[in-house]
Amino acid sequence: MVPIPDSFDLIIVGSGGSGMAAAIEAATAGAKVLILEKAPEIGGATARSVGTYSTSSTPHQKRAGIEDSPERHYADMDLVNANAKYPDNLGLRRLLTFGAPDTFRWLTELGIEFIGPNIEPPQTRPRMHNVIPSSAAFPYYLGRKCEALGVTTRCNAQVTDLIFNDGRVAGVSVRMTDGETESYRANHGVILTSGDFAASPEYRARFFDQAVVNSVAAYPLATGDGLRIAERHGARIVNGDYAAFYIPRLRFIPPSQPNWVMRLPPSRIVARMIRWGTALMPAAIMRPFVMKFITTILGPEQNLFKAGAAMVNASGKLLPVELKSPAKHLALDPSNSGFIILDGRIADQFEAWPNFISTAPGVAHAYISDYRAARKDVFHEAQSLDALARRIGIDPAALGEAVAEHNHTATEPLARPPFIALGPVRGYVSITEGGLAVTDDLHVLGSDDKPIPGLFAAGSAGQGGVLLDGHGHHLAWAFVSGRQAARTAMQSGPSLSAAG
Ligand SMILES: Cc1cc2nc3c(=O)[nH]c(=O)nc-3n(C[C@H](O)[C@H](O)[C@H](O)COP(=O)(O)OP(=O)(O)OC[C@H]3O[C@@H](n4cnc5c(N)ncnc54)[C@H](O)[C@@H]3O)c2cc1C
Repeated sequence: MVPIPDSFDLIIVGSGGSGMAAAIEAATAGAKVLILEKAPEIGGATARSVGTYSTSSTPHQKRAGIEDSPERHYADMDLVNANAKYPDNLGLRRLLTFGAPDTFRWLTELGIEFIGPNIEPPQTRPRMHNVIPSSAAFPYYLGRKCEALGVTTRCNAQVTDLIFNDGRVAGVSVRMTDGETESYRANHGVILTSGDFAASPEYRARFFDQAVVNSVAAYPLATGDGLRIAERHGARIVNGDYAAFYIPRLRFIPPSQPNWVMRLPPSRIVARMIRWGTALMPAAIMRPFVMKFITTILGPEQNLFKAGAAMVNASGKLLPVELKSPAKHLALDPSNSGFIILDGRIADQFEAWPNFISTAPGVAHAYISDYRAARKDVFHEAQSLDALARRIGIDPAALGEAVAEHNHTATEPLARPPFIALGPVRGYVSITEGGLAVTDDLHVLGSDDKPIPGLFAAGSAGQGGVLLDGHGHHLAWAFVSGRQAARTAMQSGPSLSAAG
């Protein structure tokens, strides 16, 4: 193994979208960069996301004849956030909406391909772009670029604390998975890009209710380490109890076996073949193929329940569904596992925009036919309720009773075959919104609301009260803020190459 120096220009804590974007930005400017990642591989939640990226002013929009601008995107965020319980951080909103087009271009120049744009009401322009073939393309291309630029990346390395020198953050302490401890120094300081706290029992209990505490974390290493470390040194969390997407959120369990499509590299060649295939081949062939590139757990939309679907637990007992948080009672159920039950009437409605089952990689929105063709592991269908119950391993009498109870109060009963069960679904926490309070250029603020010298944050860890509701703003924020944090860090501290 090549020996690793213990001193760098910049240390980056976490290798998700924000961390890798920060590393590339700093290394391109000539900095000697170290990424520390506690997982065995790079990517974080970014590599497990659906892969939507919302922005204005893309070549995709131009090709589709859509006139748009960062100013309009900025203004539309008022519509997106109309029901938010907290005011937006307008400085960070500006950074997001004005930085997103250039960072989109930057990602495509690295090799990442997107399709779209798709409309996402209440935004007034189609802005949602989807990565193809899947979000695995992010670590694939950003990781390659880091390597090409000579960024040092250490996996299995958990940052446990900051090291200060004369009141300035000058390095980090690290615990390796083998139990060894190490320390590294950086003369431009440290960027916390360690993600959110969706998997931290302690932070969930501090900010949310029992349903959230009971839920499964979509990315199990999102334990809020960067927030905890920064709080220890006087920083504070903004919007800890805010949820842009209702949490817990219903999500399908991931496929138990990787299929052959998932083993294809998430490269530009594969992406272009998909783009070409999508343009030239029948949708019935291409959509199931594209949907097999699963790197994420897909989340069924609450519209299914508005249309009259029911939810039962793993034993077939009917569960209440609150439209604001359909997964709440499932997460409170000891099994935290169940099925969404619908009939032919609802299935017919969920075949075209705006009634989709979920967003999905490659196809943007997935409908009943997509699930029937591509996700047989979570799509079950039968001509009678009894046959459906047997197919999903539930006592037919229990399912019959649950549907009868549901029909008793439903506006339209579940009555028209075929009967469909979607699941297993579970209550998940995929995204939390609490990030460190930061300046508009992503310096972390300390106890007296003054920047902590040498400490920066980006991505979820540096969310700073910017509201990211609507699909595709979290990833845009991760990449845009990662690049900005690196620029800010490199402008602070001594000039380059003092690291030894
Ligand atoms: C299932 C799912 C689907 C999603 N889909 C979308 C979508 O389609 N569009 C969208 O905009 N957003 C989506 N999101 C949200 C989006 O993925 C995240 O907000 C974004 O990726 C956060 O990027 P990040 O760089 O801040 O954090 P991450 O990508 O999570 O990276 C943080 C990294 O830091 C590492 N780390 C943590 N603590 C330490 C430590 N102490 N030491 C060293 N390393 C550490 C973690 O292991 C991780 O690799 C989705 C999220 C999930 C879970």
